[in-house]
Amino acid sequence: MKICTKNHHHWSLLDSLPHDKNGAGKYKCAGCAYEKGFKAGKNKEESLNIDLDKLHESQSGTMQYKSPHAAFAQGYVDGINNS
Ligand SMILES: [Zn+2]
Repeated sequence: MKICTKNHHHWSLLDSLPHDKNGAGKYKCAGCAYEKGFKAGKNKEESLNIDLDKLHESQSGTMQYKSPHAAFAQGYVDGINNS
């Protein structure tokens, strides 16, 4: 999978999310997971699939090791709040 080239790597809103040091989401981009969750929340999707394999790999920086699961969930809530 390609390394993420989007510029969401330093979003402060993801600062409080837990890290994923050893889990399946370790090298996955939490920013992409957040955007995916946000979209799902906005559409009020009821069948959620984080689909880790389809996320870009994270670059080094603060986003690395952030849990994509938590990022997706945060995005989902924020998406609902914005819908
Ligand atoms: Zn990304």
